[in-house]
Amino acid sequence: MSKHSFQAEVNQLLDLMIHSLYSNREIFLRELISNASDALDKLKFLNVSDDCYKQIAFDPKIQIRFDTKDRKWLEIEDNGIGMNDQDLVENLGTIAKSGTKNFVSQLTGDRKKDSNLIGQFGVGFYSAFMVSDSIEVIAKKAGEDKAWKWTSDGKGEYTIEESNRESFGATIRLNLKEDAKEFANRWTLESAIKKYSNHIPFPIFLEYEQSEYDDQGKEKGKTKKNDQIGSATALWKRPKNSIKPEEYQEFYKTISHDSGETIATIHTQAEGALEYTTLFFIPAAAPFDLYRMDYRSGVKLYVKRVFITDDDKELLPSYLRFVRGVIDSEDLPLNVSREILQQNKILANIKNASVKKILSEIKKLSEDKEKYAAFHKEFGRCVKEGLYSDYANREELLELARFKTTASEGLMGFAEYKARMKPDQKAIYYIAGLNESLLRNSPLLESFKAQNIEVLIMDDEIDEFAISQINEYKDLPLKAINKSGANDDLPKTQNDDIIKAAEPIAQKVKKALGEEVKEVKISSRLASSPACLVLDENDPSVQMRQMYKMMGDMPLPDIKPILELNPSHEIVQKIGAIDDENLASDVSFLLFEQAQLVAGMTLKDPAAFGERLSRILSKAI
Ligand code: ADP
Repeated sequence: MSKHSFQAEVNQLLDLMIHSLYSNREIFLRELISNASDALDKLKFLNVSDDCYKQIAFDPKIQIRFDTKDRKWLEIEDNGIGMNDQDLVENLGTIAKSGTKNFVSQLTGDRKKDSNLIGQFGVGFYSAFMVSDSIEVIAKKAGEDKAWKWTSDGKGEYTIEESNRESFGATIRLNLKEDAKEFANRWTLESAIKKYSNHIPFPIFLEYEQSEYDDQGKEKGKTKKNDQIGSATALWKRPKNSIKPEEYQEFYKTISHDSGETIATIHTQAEGALEYTTLFFIPAAAPFDLYRMDYRSGVKLYVKRVFITDDDKELLPSYLRFVRGVIDSEDLPLNVSREILQQNKILANIKNASVKKILSEIKKLSEDKEKYAAFHKEFGRCVKEGLYSDYANREELLELARFKTTASEGLMGFAEYKARMKPDQKAIYYIAGLNESLLRNSPLLESFKAQNIEVLIMDDEIDEFAISQINEYKDLPLKAINKSGANDDLPKTQNDDIIKAAEPIAQKVKKALGEEVKEVKISSRLASSPACLVLDENDPSVQMRQMYKMMGDMPLPDIKPILELNPSHEIVQKIGAIDDENLASDVSFLLFEQAQLVAGMTLKDPAAFGERLSRILSKAI
């Protein structure tokens, strides 16, 4: 017999589970039945695809038994893939998924009590400790000779020893807590199985004793019975109109390990050239690890009801990784390998149709503004990832993306923006950056405000990246207003004579600033500010440059901004009259530095800026 300690995070998880987690403890049954079903799935796959396992006589089922006399124990048994001693250590002593592991280790203090948070990932096997004083797992791996017994009371340690078991599979024996004896009861078990596990594609049997009575109504003995509970049909293969909403929800919980709600269920049973079934769910809330590198997407592939993989990035594009569900194909070969999957035409067709279906369901969601805002808050970034990664569906995705805007509170899509445009407006305008309040107060907006033209505010990191791939929406060009020439189409706020007269001032300032700026221009876009910074039309923005830098080691040339001056502003007009070269330089630099600060940039030489400001202030006072 060997003694082992649980990994620290397992102890934390057990502690959470026992002390603060669930009001409905019966979910442990769902978790154990779902594990049994997964184990049967795995063996079924080997049974049909791997020569070594083809000889195995395999009649998959899940058997549940309980102590009918003293109600002290409950057993869940399957004849699935089973486990050997090493599997027992890896599976029932550690948390394999690093995302989950990190998450558990962060759950401390008050967050411990937040069962919503913990409901986001699979509580799994360990949930059985909510109802058990101790647990024994007796398992034998298919294809191996030895059986093993794992035992633990969930208090930090477990033991593993050799054991006996006739055939492959696993038996989970729960020694029930005094206050959990209700689970050693036919009716409790039957109703919980129907409620939580009715969609499991394998038969579930429940063994119990039935009393028999004589003519006088006196009990004359008991007989053992073993009834099949549940339909043993994969939920997705049942006719759509026979499935209740609660059944969809329970199925979602089993496959996603998320105890939260869903906002859309998309069930497609396709017949014809290709025969397949897909059942997808859009969760109400984003999983905590959606943006982690090791996030595992939640779609399972079946071929004729045989589970093939849930670890294939090819099943749906990565931007739809928040979608959970199953794809079941009648046409793929059962022995598909990963390589085959990657270039398989059938799967590619199913995938394309699925993406279209999911996007059109999201479109339906978007008809309800409030509901859609909630969806967008959770998954808007994924939609925007799609904007730059899924060229084929760009038009649909353009209808789904939402942005902040200068014209109203809340979010705005391109279609609504277009409908609200002024009759002679020729483009969709946006301003991008990372700080909403800086963007809203940017001098670049002055001429747009003056003419009541709406500008989209793109302050999410991903916005500018996504939009960089898109030049137009329905023939309307998208224009970044911090680029030179962005407002060439707008009526001018300054007349040509004033602009022309101020040209020498621009030259004077450029001479003072030298190579700090690409150009100094007299602007027609400013109303109240003296100056602003823009970028040359073809230059990437500061954020884009940072993003490129993070993505690769491609060296980027230093890009210099263009300084635009407001010819009607008092300071600008006065520069023309300055004779003192040092003073002209100080004023030019201060204008430039002020424009940088207003744009949220950092100054190259703050000390020199301070000195300049002091010189000017002492003259002014
Ligand atoms: P999850 O099911 O989310 O992976 P669990 O804690 O419920 O997490 O189970 C951990 C692992 O233990 C499973 O992934 C599986 O490999 C193994 N396991 C659990 N129950 C069984 C079983 N009945 N038969 C075979 N393996 C099992």
